[in-house]
Amino acid sequence: MTDEPAAQPLLQMALRVEQDIFVIRQRGREVAAVVGLEHQDQVRVATALSEVARDLLRTTGGADVSFHVDAGADGRCHLRADLAPLAPLPDDRYQPQSGAVSRLVDTLSVSTAEGVTVVRMSRRVPANAPTPTPERLAEFRTELGRTAPGSALDELTVQNGQLIAALDEVRSQRDELAVLNEELAETNRGVLALYNQLTEELEETNRGVVALYAELDEKSAQLRTASESKSRFLANVSHELRAPVTAIIGLGRLLTDSASDPLTDEQGRQVDLIRSSAADLLNLVNELLDLAKAESGRIEPDVTEVDLRPLFGQLRGTLRALATRPEVELVVEELTGPALLRTDEVLLGQVLRNLLHNGLKFTERGEVRLRASQHGDRWQFDVSDTGPGIAPELHDRIFEEFYQIPGATRVGGTGLGLPYARRLVTLLGGSLELTSAQGEGSTFTVSLPTGGA
Ligand code: ADP
Repeated sequence: MTDEPAAQPLLQMALRVEQDIFVIRQRGREVAAVVGLEHQDQVRVATALSEVARDLLRTTGGADVSFHVDAGADGRCHLRADLAPLAPLPDDRYQPQSGAVSRLVDTLSVSTAEGVTVVRMSRRVPANAPTPTPERLAEFRTELGRTAPGSALDELTVQNGQLIAALDEVRSQRDELAVLNEELAETNRGVLALYNQLTEELEETNRGVVALYAELDEKSAQLRTASESKSRFLANVSHELRAPVTAIIGLGRLLTDSASDPLTDEQGRQVDLIRSSAADLLNLVNELLDLAKAESGRIEPDVTEVDLRPLFGQLRGTLRALATRPEVELVVEELTGPALLRTDEVLLGQVLRNLLHNGLKFTERGEVRLRASQHGDRWQFDVSDTGPGIAPELHDRIFEEFYQIPGATRVGGTGLGLPYARRLVTLLGGSLELTSAQGEGSTFTVSLPTGGA
């Protein structure tokens, strides 16, 4: 179809008298149908043609009309109608009488081609329309040449039919719109009801959550009070117990003193038993007191610049006395270079002594080792041993008060050392963690900020 010479129009007609307007309208519709425009578009093109023809007959006394089929830049076919006026257009411009005309077609403009000024309109052929073959166009040309155009009356009848069809279409569209509107209103009502229901449910849930929070607050206040009462009780009882227990130990010492009256062997053994039991009790009382103090927040760390080297020397000295098994070696690693950190020296000493003491208590052969290392802005202390190790499921439990792993009790102790150590480390702004597995020894790691809590 693009091979169709541009100069050879599909159809040419003359617009000279009023009657021609009907003919142009009729032929325009037929051409539109042949190139594949839909029924509605055929009516649009025909109406636009008759409007422009009427305008030109009035302003320029007539025009030569030609129809063409072009291939557009978008690869689609366009039906083009050129109306070349017989006299120049006023001001070389074309202003349609009815502004709606330009909306009936895709383009409506004044163009000048090869010195001829034409009013040109075009309408795109739908993509799904079968492309008219050159043969079909030639056939159509002949057909048009043969048939005589209908009269104005015929065209008026057709036009009336089209108008009725258009009115029908408008009415059915309006009915459809009314149904759609009703459906939309229905949906809106449903959405609104759902929204209200959801809002209500949300409010209900919110009320529940608020009540739950209030209950939680109350419970945690109760817990706080209970914990404070427990600490106060522990502190008071321990304090009250300390004096009589110390007195028992003193009396025992007096009884076995060489200056006192000699005791029988049996009496001596029994007094020794009383003394050692009282010493155990005093130990327990002291630990309870320490823990109660740490829990009640009455321990205020005395933070100073601490050099770890003398502290380690001290630990080496005091713990050697506890390392009584020849099969277990106590290693406090040497610190090379200055090892300074801001903390409470006494509390840190207590924590490390406690961990090393545990290591020595539970390890039957191998070694117990303390090593310190600096990582960024923290100091890390690892107390490791080659003892029995601790199963992962007990890693949290051994930090609970009075918890001792079954079987471990025979080496003595109270089950208060680790919870106390963890409290102190927390007070110093650090953490105490355990890495261990059963049968593989244990490593307790204390991590403290170099700059203090
Ligand atoms: P205590 O040593 O007075 O019993 P702790 O609170 O210090 O109390 O320790 C709690 C329990 O954790 C101990 O009874 C022991 O079962 C276990 N435990 C602590 N340290 C070690 C260790 N180095 N190796 C194996 N078990 C340990």
